[in-house]
Amino acid sequence: MNNKKICQSCGMPLKKDKNGPAKEKDGSPSEKYCSNCYKNGEFTCPKCTVEDIKNKNKEEMKKRHFPNFMVNMYNKKLPELERWHNNTKKDSQEIIEQ
Ligand SMILES: [Zn+2]
Repeated sequence: MNNKKICQSCGMPLKKDKNGPAKEKDGSPSEKYCSNCYKNGEFTCPKCTVEDIKNKNKEEMKKRHFPNFMVNMYNKKLPELERWHNNTKKDSQEIIEQ
């Protein structure tokens, strides 16, 4: 499932990133994030939560006339992406039974 490279912040396929690839600070291309989310080694929207990105995606996809179920399916995957995955882990660290 990891062979498709998608932005680890918004879920957009990096192939479809017309302004991409996003750059790291040293100018090398980012393999994780699209140019909408990431620029010169930093997030363009560092304070955005996963909910903010979901709303952005929703607007964007509505403009392109995606059906609602597609939008929901797409947004459902967002918390699994690397940017959000780490955060949720921190918030609710699993208690390891011994
Ligand atoms: Zn992105």
